[in-house]
Amino acid sequence: MGVIKLPEKSGSPEQILKTMKELSGQDADWRSAKTWSLVYFAGDELLNVAKSAYMMFFSENALNPLAFPSLKKFENEVVAMTANMLGGGPEAVGSMTSGGTESILLAVKTARDWARANKPDVKEPEMILPITAHPSFEKASHYFGVKSVHIPITSDLRADVKAAESAVNKNTILIVGSAACYPYGVIDPIPELAEIAMKNNILFHTDACLGGFMLPFLKKLGYQIRDFDLSVPGVTSISADVHKFGYAGKGASTIIYKNSELRKFQFYIYADWPGGVYASPTMTGTRPGGAIASAWAVMNYLGEEGYLRVAKQAMSVTERLVEEIGKIPGLKVMTKPDMSVFAFGSDIINVFELGELMEKKGWFLDRLQMPPGLHMIVTPNHEKIIQPFLADLSQITAELIKQGKKDATGMAAVYGIIGTLPDRKAAHQLVLGFLDDLFKAK
Ligand SMILES: *Cc1c(COP(=O)(O)O)cnc(C)c1O
Repeated sequence: MGVIKLPEKSGSPEQILKTMKELSGQDADWRSAKTWSLVYFAGDELLNVAKSAYMMFFSENALNPLAFPSLKKFENEVVAMTANMLGGGPEAVGSMTSGGTESILLAVKTARDWARANKPDVKEPEMILPITAHPSFEKASHYFGVKSVHIPITSDLRADVKAAESAVNKNTILIVGSAACYPYGVIDPIPELAEIAMKNNILFHTDACLGGFMLPFLKKLGYQIRDFDLSVPGVTSISADVHKFGYAGKGASTIIYKNSELRKFQFYIYADWPGGVYASPTMTGTRPGGAIASAWAVMNYLGEEGYLRVAKQAMSVTERLVEEIGKIPGLKVMTKPDMSVFAFGSDIINVFELGELMEKKGWFLDRLQMPPGLHMIVTPNHEKIIQPFLADLSQITAELIKQGKKDATGMAAVYGIIGTLPDRKAAHQLVLGFLDDLFKAK
């Protein structure tokens, strides 16, 4: 550290942007659809709407909506439209946040503060999480002192309802289910889980960060989509990311509550500051106007018609990939997904080796563990590469089968070790060292 310093002299805009453009050449190639995560792209016209709106409100700050009535309108309408899509009644209210993680942090913080007010006997609050729930719930557990109690999944990879029922105790304040879960793209049995919450007079959060902008449209298209949203009795809050299958600019998610009585436990107010009365709806202070504007623009641009179209495209590509990958000898899709996200693994080859070799060909797939798998988030943009992707996948799989069992090397070995180390503290330390090293300028 200390080698890279602020330049003494001002730079030239052209030179700086040129350097940055060159650096971006090494990045994951999402535009040509070789990346299966992180970027949700459904065409240039849509992207231009999202970007133009973002740039138009680049400087504006939603920290104080009184100064920017436009942003207040955008945020309230994004939340209202989303609540409407997700079965919220006339009482439903919410907030826009910087992303799924913030929405979930808030859902947990709200539950904790709700319980402090309504269940004063609970001193050590707990929440019940299926093992497939997103790690942001663990983060919330860590930040807010709400103990996470894990329940297993059943053979269909959905949360085990019976386990949830027996995990409830007098300290439980919240039960969580995903629609859909990130690892396998399947929806948990939300009505059954929410019923347990209702019976015990506690809260229930549906994490629809991934599926919130996909499942309502798939349902309208005639897909069998099990109930998951605020219309389900017992569901008290739901999160949905506009920056995933909503296709807005990054930094845009929503958290919706059944009513404003609940949302009040989310807000933060400090009325005694010499700097002024401080009232903040979410976790962040300054909130980028661009992200809010972009979400509003994209939702109005696509409308129901547009979302139905892109949902159908993504799902058709998903169905073809699931079918074809299922036919490749040595590979197996973990389960038929409920939306455009799924994973596949193998009983014969090391899929982490497969992931490395695919990466050499420019394909970037996320790795799953316990059990090992490769992960696909499918967007309409992937339609154009189905054939070359499947060709590389089956060719490399066949080669790995021919090579037979051998010890993994390189990153494939690292992924394997982290997933299988019996000492989870050691796994934690290994990743901690990696992260520490990653965030150093070199
Ligand atoms: C992406 C995701 C999150 C977290 O969202 P971020 O925007 O990455 O913070 C939470 N839950 C699920 C199911 C997700 O897919």
